[in-house]
Amino acid sequence: MRLPYKSLAGKFTICTSLVLLVTIAFFAYINIEALRGVFLDEAKDDVETLSEIILHTTHLQMLEDNRDIVYKMMDDVGKHKKIGLIRLLDDKGTIRYSTHANEIGRFVDQPTDDCLSCHCEAIAETFPPMESRRRVIKDCSGAEILSVTKQINNQPVCSTAACHVHPPDVQVLGALEVQASLHNVGIQADTYRKNVLAFAASLLLIIIGCLVWLTHDLVVQPVHSLLLHSRKVAKMELDDHVVLNSADEIGALAREFNEMTDRLRQAQGEYRQLTETLEAKVEERTAEIAQMNSQLVRSEKLASLGKLVAGIAHEINNPLAGILMFATLFAEDRSLPPELREDAQIIMRETQRCAEIVKRLLEFSRNSIPRKKLKSLPVIMNNTMALLEHQAALNEIEILRSYDPDLPDILVDPNQIEQVFVNMVVNACQAMPNGGRLSVAMHADYDQHFLVTIIEDNGHGIAKENLPKIFDPFFTTKDQPDAGMTGTGLGLSVSYGIIQNHGGRIGVVSEVGSGTTFTVELPLVTSAALPAKDYPGNLYALG
Ligand code: ADP
Repeated sequence: MRLPYKSLAGKFTICTSLVLLVTIAFFAYINIEALRGVFLDEAKDDVETLSEIILHTTHLQMLEDNRDIVYKMMDDVGKHKKIGLIRLLDDKGTIRYSTHANEIGRFVDQPTDDCLSCHCEAIAETFPPMESRRRVIKDCSGAEILSVTKQINNQPVCSTAACHVHPPDVQVLGALEVQASLHNVGIQADTYRKNVLAFAASLLLIIIGCLVWLTHDLVVQPVHSLLLHSRKVAKMELDDHVVLNSADEIGALAREFNEMTDRLRQAQGEYRQLTETLEAKVEERTAEIAQMNSQLVRSEKLASLGKLVAGIAHEINNPLAGILMFATLFAEDRSLPPELREDAQIIMRETQRCAEIVKRLLEFSRNSIPRKKLKSLPVIMNNTMALLEHQAALNEIEILRSYDPDLPDILVDPNQIEQVFVNMVVNACQAMPNGGRLSVAMHADYDQHFLVTIIEDNGHGIAKENLPKIFDPFFTTKDQPDAGMTGTGLGLSVSYGIIQNHGGRIGVVSEVGSGTTFTVELPLVTSAALPAKDYPGNLYALG
């Protein structure tokens, strides 16, 4: 648990309470003292009034020197419970009469006055002017007593009276001193002090209670909510809001906090989105690099293979020509037994097959520079179809053509492009031994600047594991001579080289059992004045 003096509310409450305590105590003290003064003044006035009444009522008796009556009156008044002592002093300070008989005849202003205290007599603490002596003195028990002394002045009637004439030059004849107990004043002041202290303590408690309640409700609680919220924000938990509806500064702070949280959440969302986009872009670029890499490897492989093949093919061509010539001679020589002539025919057929392979190898290796002219691609495709239509019809293959109208002529080597189309159409037909549908479509992609040819069949398709290999030289799945299916595996690699030399690209999508789609994209170069190398690269794509 947190110690109260360490919390904000604790510090605030303790400081404010201390200030309040000092202030209220100070005011209570001043108040009590002031009221005590008022009580004391009232008592002094009362005693003084009493002294004057005694002097007035005894004046006549004094003139006539009726001392017994005067003393009797003083005794009667002195019996009142509030009156402690009444005495008459002459001008020398001799106590001429006192309601305390034992002090009659003594001097009040002699040093022996000290002795009076030991005999339970009052001692003057102060000596105010004779005109009006008002003193607070203490008796031997320490109780406060109010002493008021009234001067008795000489008057003309006194100096002329027959009884005891006072000389006219004497001013003061004596004094009357009345002492009254201040016990009641003390009780009243005590009661008042207790009431004021009780009131001050209650007021202090109420104010402290209000302070604690207000600081808790207006400061501690809202600050606690803000603290909890800021901890959540630090942990990036940004879905919550601080709920504070006050219109004061803390309410404004809470609203700022909520706005800041919203902005942070928005920024976090954008950051996440950016990261995801970046990841997707990195993946895309990685795939592109991998593709370009494989294309590069393939190109290098093809180039070195081409050189090798060109050498071998050239060397084999001459012996093959000799074999074919002698086999033909043997096959046509009627002097030979028929079995031997049949064997010679087999040699002829196989040699022709070898010669065909060598021819394709040379085509593959030649990497000849295309002789480009502005030609219509639909026309080239139609020429290709014209060669193959008959065979396709025999195999019950339906051919569908769809060319966008107004396709522009583009810069191509028509012989080489026809060779590409023948390879693809023948492959498609071979993939549909039991008939099917072959669709050929062409359109222009003006955004990418390509003329796109799509050759689609619904044949047996290409197995997933073979798809990356079909453009490799000598890769073939057609090795069933019994079924009349033999392939060299050079058709697509030659086609690939041709399209590459045209600055185009080939794509393929295939699914086993559903069919295959080849896409050939050739640059939309519509002017012979422009050199081919200025056109888009020969990206090769496998779908
Ligand atoms: P070849 O036709 O002599 O085998 P290609 O290079 O033309 O050589 O073709 C390579 C391989 O690609 C073929 O053996 C065949 O497996 C596959 N292929 C090409 N076109 C298709 C197609 N339309 N449908 C199914 N497989 C095809």
